[in-house]
Amino acid sequence: MVICNTQQLKGLMRLRKFVEDCSTITKKQGIISIIDNALTEGCYSSIHQKKLNQVRNIWFDRTHAGEFICRHCLGDTSQVDYDYLHGTDHLECALKEETK
Ligand SMILES: [Zn+2]
Repeated sequence: MVICNTQQLKGLMRLRKFVEDCSTITKKQGIISIIDNALTEGCYSSIHQKKLNQVRNIWFDRTHAGEFICRHCLGDTSQVDYDYLHGTDHLECALKEETK
């Protein structure tokens, strides 16, 4: 079970809007109901987490592709030393995500 903090809830609301507007995502209703559920409960299961991460990756690639923004924390990475980057993501965030 994943408990959402305020920042994650905001992210979910943004993601919900993206899914609603996106014409290429299939099974929209299912994803929207997962998000709605997470927004109401303030948490979601690890199975739903997988699904949400997939959608979040689509969202990220559509909105921030090619920009120096970390896909994990959405922080600006344009001033970060190359040694601490993984693509355009913080190396630290990428490693944290991998060990989850
Ligand atoms: Zn980051």
